[in-house]
Amino acid sequence: MLLPLLVPLALASPTWPDADATLTTTALAVPEDFGVRRVALDPGHGNTGNSGLESADCTNEEDFTRALGTHFRDALLATGHFEVMDLRDEDAGAEYRARIDAAAAWGAEALVSLHADSRGAGTQTEVEGRGSCPQNAAEPGFSVLFSDEGTEGVVAPRRALARAVAARMSGLGLPAYDGADYGDAYDADTSAGVFIDRRGLFMLRRPTMPSVIFETHHAWHPEEWARWQEAGTRDAAALALAQALIDVLGAP
Ligand SMILES: [Zn+2]
Repeated sequence: MLLPLLVPLALASPTWPDADATLTTTALAVPEDFGVRRVALDPGHGNTGNSGLESADCTNEEDFTRALGTHFRDALLATGHFEVMDLRDEDAGAEYRARIDAAAAWGAEALVSLHADSRGAGTQTEVEGRGSCPQNAAEPGFSVLFSDEGTEGVVAPRRALARAVAARMSGLGLPAYDGADYGDAYDADTSAGVFIDRRGLFMLRRPTMPSVIFETHHAWHPEEWARWQEAGTRDAAALALAQALIDVLGAP
């Protein structure tokens, strides 16, 4: 018997997408009148003195988000449903304020900042060919952060985008972080993997278009970090993001 070529959005694995699965954008559910919508991607960090965390194999977060941003941009463009502004292409070292302004001036309908998280206490661990790198094989999973500061007209679409990204990630089998290490920095939302900013983060408070910070995974977790180096994981996450953007931007 031939296996079907299309993999539906809900995969069998409860904990992780099948690395061999062929995820395809034809699986997206798109309203007929959706059109082509403008999305700004912000590969986090990559400006002066701000390279982000050091991962389980000593990669700088800014290099991870740079590569992931390109992967997501290409995947969103390939759906035919989006135009994408890559905010680190605009001006390689731009500060966050300038990135938000560029997204707004372009007419971005959503802004997604890409990051990886560090959680708990890292233990310096020797990695062959890489040196001594921080690792902590606990607290895996993605989280999606939003700000509830502002009018409900601004906050409601943010919240909807955060919940949609988390739901679509979970739906593809990617694990959601439970927030055990966030403490007072974030409040838990009612949706798994969604957290409300209590740090007053500029990238969450400032944008007027729906915006979230997408902490894709725990980068000190050696297995999760390794998973996120695989194209299959990045494809699955890009598909989840695409469907979440369609869910929110295509809502009546
Ligand atoms: Zn970061």
